[in-house]
Amino acid sequence: MMKAVVYKENGKLVFEEHTKPSLVNDTDVILKVTLTTICSSDIHIKHGAVPRAQKGVVLGHEFVGIVAETGAAVKKLQVGDRVAVNCETFCGECFYCKKGYVNNCTDKNGGWALGCRIDGGQAEYARIPFADNCLTKIPANVTDEQALFNGDLLSTGYWGCKIGELTSEDVVAIIGAGPAGLCAMMCARLFNPQKIIAIDIDDARLQVAKANGYADIILNPLHDDVTAEISKYTAGRGADKVFEVAGSDKTFALALDIARPNAIVVLIAMYENNQVLPLPNIYGKNLTIKFGGVDGAFCQEIMKHIEQGEINALPLLTHHTDFAHIMEAYDIFENKKENVIKIAVRVAESL
Ligand SMILES: [Zn+2]
Ligand SMILES: [Zn+2]
Repeated sequence: MMKAVVYKENGKLVFEEHTKPSLVNDTDVILKVTLTTICSSDIHIKHGAVPRAQKGVVLGHEFVGIVAETGAAVKKLQVGDRVAVNCETFCGECFYCKKGYVNNCTDKNGGWALGCRIDGGQAEYARIPFADNCLTKIPANVTDEQALFNGDLLSTGYWGCKIGELTSEDVVAIIGAGPAGLCAMMCARLFNPQKIIAIDIDDARLQVAKANGYADIILNPLHDDVTAEISKYTAGRGADKVFEVAGSDKTFALALDIARPNAIVVLIAMYENNQVLPLPNIYGKNLTIKFGGVDGAFCQEIMKHIEQGEINALPLLTHHTDFAHIMEAYDIFENKKENVIKIAVRVAESL
């Protein structure tokens, strides 16, 4: 047996004894989890907002660990390897995987399965399907903490930049300076855009964006005229690229509003409500709107950027705790106490 955070039913998570996983398929790895974290998707599951989440599942899809056991067909990994986990497990062989659309992998263990449909990484051990595709080795000079967001938040930001076709000519406006928004800013920086403009109603989060160089300009709709400000930086045109990472009705409308004609608007946020497209108003703007769930197919590239110091997400780890205190961490994270951004939960000593 081992300790794990289990989703029992709507509104109920329990930290309890759970069966330790064992190898099922020969492409599996058993990972000894060393560092894990809580994602807002875990909170969505807790609230019953993720219909495909299974009751009784161990939560957690953002974690790192050490390979403890390998299935017979695993080729790229060995016992003792320190690795970051991709939040999406995928077969690599189906119609979608071959096109890089791994979020829609048709295997029953494919797409976002970990910590949703199969047991995840808020546990002492986790079974990782298709381990060769879905684990990224952590270089010796990169810590667990530095690698923690590789497979989820940073993958999401990086994917947003790719589908947003970000270039060095762009002024990019990023709505939402929470964990996903900040990671989107870090990834946007890799594409060397003209300006990164962060928009949020939380001044503390905006300060994190500014102080760490994630954003060049910060705007708070509660006391800034966002549309006018963006107009100022774009010769009156509006933002070339807009990333909507906040997920409310207001921010959805704002994203369409601040985009210049022919802009690409990327909806990275996970919405809990339907949204209305004001088609008569935006008719002549000829916008391209892209959206969906991350295709986590860039973990290797992202790890390189972390290793080279081009991505530093450590300032997001505002809180550190150990595994015995994970339910307190849930309370802080869910209720946004103490200006929390992300919490590193140490499950076991690293190598
Ligand atoms: Zn997540
Ligand atoms: Zn597949």
